[in-house]
Amino acid sequence: MRADIHPTYYQAKVTCNCGNEFTTGSTKPEIHVEICSKCHPFYTGQQKAAVARGRIEKFNRKYGIKAE
Ligand SMILES: [Zn+2]
Repeated sequence: MRADIHPTYYQAKVTCNCGNEFTTGSTKPEIHVEICSKCHPFYTGQQKAAVARGRIEKFNRKYGIKAE
């Protein structure tokens, strides 16, 4: 790698609004997020996932794709 053209690479501490903390690679030493994999409904499988599923089914119906 060429010197002086790359930003500093940190093991960033990510803090979520839900209180979850984890580390990831970043050019910033600290990151604050509003939603993470611990509290996002897609990963928790709650609430809005049902709405999303409904939209997907609607799309599939519209274009004649049969869901198994
Ligand atoms: Zn979270």
